[in-house]
Amino acid sequence: MERENLVWDNFKEKDLEEMLNFCEGYKSFINASKTEREASQEIVKIAEENGFIDLKTAIESKKKLTVGDKVYATNKDKGIIMFILGTEPMEKGMTITGSHLDSPRIDLKQNPLYEDDGFTFLETHYYGGIKKYQWVTIPLSIHGVLITKGGKKVNIVIGEDDNDPVLFITDLLPHLSKDQSAKKLSEAIEGENLNVLFGSMPIEDKEAKSRIKLNTLRLLNEKYGIEEEDFTSAELEIVPSGKARDVGLDRSMIAAYGHDDKICAYTCLRALVETEAPKKTCVGLFVDKEEVGSIGATGMTSKFFENTVAEVMELAEGYTSLKLRRALANSKMLSADVLAAFDPLYPSVCERKNTAFLGKGIVIIKYSGKDGKVGSNDADAEFIGEVRNIFNKNNIVWQTSELGKVDQGGGGTIAYILAEYGMEVLDCGLVLLSMHSPYEIASKADIYEGYRGYKAFYSI
Ligand SMILES: [Zn+2]
Repeated sequence: MERENLVWDNFKEKDLEEMLNFCEGYKSFINASKTEREASQEIVKIAEENGFIDLKTAIESKKKLTVGDKVYATNKDKGIIMFILGTEPMEKGMTITGSHLDSPRIDLKQNPLYEDDGFTFLETHYYGGIKKYQWVTIPLSIHGVLITKGGKKVNIVIGEDDNDPVLFITDLLPHLSKDQSAKKLSEAIEGENLNVLFGSMPIEDKEAKSRIKLNTLRLLNEKYGIEEEDFTSAELEIVPSGKARDVGLDRSMIAAYGHDDKICAYTCLRALVETEAPKKTCVGLFVDKEEVGSIGATGMTSKFFENTVAEVMELAEGYTSLKLRRALANSKMLSADVLAAFDPLYPSVCERKNTAFLGKGIVIIKYSGKDGKVGSNDADAEFIGEVRNIFNKNNIVWQTSELGKVDQGGGGTIAYILAEYGMEVLDCGLVLLSMHSPYEIASKADIYEGYRGYKAFYSI
């Protein structure tokens, strides 16, 4: 069972070129998709370029959907579902991939702006599982929206253009870190202290109070027409500044913010848009809020998915509650999310025989969870057998994995939520080094193999 097969060995010259082109496409996508809103927008763009129409328009015009028709529906600009209608009725089941568009980051609090000893700062509350010490002293950018008093939506991106300023969170110098260095890694940088440096120049009026804060507010008003209270109705996200970069002398890897989970989103998306007139209706599911438990109207636990399937069914073959339930229960899904790759610098957290490696292809994960598989999906052997056969038949390089050694830690995905319908769901994704850090690392070979794997799955 030793899997010595590297994806690289399967590439002939032509494949290698195709793979590198594919990865360039991915780099452009991830550079433009730092937040779930931006990712959702990019996916809509690619969907429309590939002939998908907005479900809202189809509903309004009472369009009858037939085999091969392509529709998409967005969920509050933070998630999207895409459908390609198959030759079989939907109640026979759909072929689904599901990935998420949100990534670990640092969000602004509702009342973020304050002045302290010559600086303005922004108060934050981190989002998802981050190691806080990784986010200090690196260039950061701010992305998101504010809703003004008049109800106008203002988009903000600061810190990505070469001419933009960037933001920083400071840290102590080593010379004065005696107390900090003695602390545990998880406590050395406190969440309440992840405040972002935002300015240091005062307004001219020497009599005024909070002169630096006033200057910051003046600049915000001049550039974006916003005032301080607008921060209360905003979603502003602090993420690492900069673009995806090739890694290694051989350029075999990519470092980027937010591979988790845009790497699966992009590979699933490309696989779906290249699928033509499938037997089963093919669905690409791109959701928000996975990193904080799939909550809220845009997370996987919301009814958006179910409601959207009902709408498509109504236009395709006529909706009934029973047909919808059958469609969901008869479906097959790959929950496409990332997993930790074996890291030779930290071998002790993994059990090598059941760990995935960078460059060894798409990964099948029967269960994750923690403390005795708790919270995992634990896919059926029969479905794993089916997926394994599809991959083998299509010459896809694949491997299996658990998330670390037993009782070392753990985690979950959206898999168990879809499984509640009775559908077959299997976690199947790609591995990363430095997962959940500001710059995660992925293998180009894996990215391409992921795309090929999802494409093979859509062809069942
Ligand atoms: Zn993830």
